[in-house]
Amino acid sequence: MVTALGARFDYPHDFKPWFTHPNTGEKVFVMWDACHMVKLVRNTFSDKRILFNPDKKPIQWELIEKLTAIQSSEGLTVATKVTQRHINYHNDKMKVKLAVQVLSTSVCHGLMYCTRKNIPGFEDTNATSQFCLIINDAFDMLNSRHRFSKSIYNHGISADNCMLFENKILFTIDYLSNLYDSTGQRLIETNRKTGFLGLVIDLTNLLNLYEEYVVKSKVLKYILSYKFSQDHLETFFGAIRRRGGWNNNPSAVQFKTAYKRLLVKHQITSSSSGNCGILDATSILHVGSGTTFTTPDTIIPEENVYSAFTSIAHDHAYVNGNIDNISPYVEDVLNYIAGFVVRSVSKRITCDFCRQHLATSETTSALINLKNRGGLIIPSPSVVFICKKLESIIRINKYNFSVKGNLCQKIFHQLMLNCLDFFNDQEMTNHIKQQDLIDNHKYQLIKLVAYNYINLRLRHEARKINQSSQTNVRQKYNRLVLFAHQ
Ligand SMILES: [Zn+2]
Repeated sequence: MVTALGARFDYPHDFKPWFTHPNTGEKVFVMWDACHMVKLVRNTFSDKRILFNPDKKPIQWELIEKLTAIQSSEGLTVATKVTQRHINYHNDKMKVKLAVQVLSTSVCHGLMYCTRKNIPGFEDTNATSQFCLIINDAFDMLNSRHRFSKSIYNHGISADNCMLFENKILFTIDYLSNLYDSTGQRLIETNRKTGFLGLVIDLTNLLNLYEEYVVKSKVLKYILSYKFSQDHLETFFGAIRRRGGWNNNPSAVQFKTAYKRLLVKHQITSSSSGNCGILDATSILHVGSGTTFTTPDTIIPEENVYSAFTSIAHDHAYVNGNIDNISPYVEDVLNYIAGFVVRSVSKRITCDFCRQHLATSETTSALINLKNRGGLIIPSPSVVFICKKLESIIRINKYNFSVKGNLCQKIFHQLMLNCLDFFNDQEMTNHIKQQDLIDNHKYQLIKLVAYNYINLRLRHEARKINQSSQTNVRQKYNRLVLFAHQ
């Protein structure tokens, strides 16, 4: 339709991704929905299995499969979200999240980490990790929701960062238009071109929009690209479907009522299982529930975070929590997780000395060093040691997740039974001299760190169990009914 109005999409010879409005003479820029483009890129990548970058280096889907395999065999992930579900995505092809999580910075870092650690099978990951990063940045640029943001390419494009964006966009367009398939043909000329061409069109138009509305006519100060996304429309459709009891085929009357109702009730919410979730947290008229707090006497403001430490039947007390069975891979990941633990514990404690005692400034963990852009917390050796001990206890008790009673308490009890060698430095000893002999800051700190870690780990295990038992048939059959009339 847009070609009939005068837009041309034949990159690069006959390329004019906009047309002129017949009445006002203004340019109308055509944006292909970025979420769909990323999904198409992922599909092409996985179907072709191997692509070639402009330097003719192979970009391999196999590496992503290997990364998933190693993550599941080691039991912990290198801070990526990819699972078997991301590899066998065919049942939920429409989920944007799955595609974005594969072509992401975290996968890029995961692959780089495996190469650095000389893990067999990951000798040459450069081209693949670069591909993931470039698609991730391109999607970031096309999905900016705020003027300022943590990631450098997720900002609104404004006068402050237009040079940065322009360079990045020109580089990305050049990269995307010079990707090849295994026969040596440019992807942008094959029948699987849509995803790649779409990103090129969107990025070109993002710059055009900036030129037109920020530089020339000065009606805007910056451009937020999420506004061009189709998500808003999809959320709205989702809301209409929801009104009729998740009815896919509303009658005219049903649609009319649903539409009226939505006009009156302003807040549109979508289902959490939809293809796109609501990403900006704009909410209307919410009453804050307020915050409660704090008794400075203990380092833990809320006493009931964990129940009292009762005597528990410790049926696995023979476990010695030997940390020798932890591989270097797991050790690196543990360091990274310990950082998270420190972050959440620090937020909850009131004693400054103890807070400083949790973190340090240097680490040997390759994963932290790789991922750190300045914001990561580096856990102190004692915290890492607690996590390591806990990890080995959890690993040894792997098959006892179904035990009755409070699993957290049991694991913690085992930790205290076989080792008390945490935070044993002089400073800490001085700090607790005036405190209760047993329930002092040191003990509370160990307990907090341990409970945090155990909770995190158990949640991870639970998620793994859930994922393995999940078969997403509902969506599949739903599509079958709708589109194949079966
Ligand atoms: Zn303290």
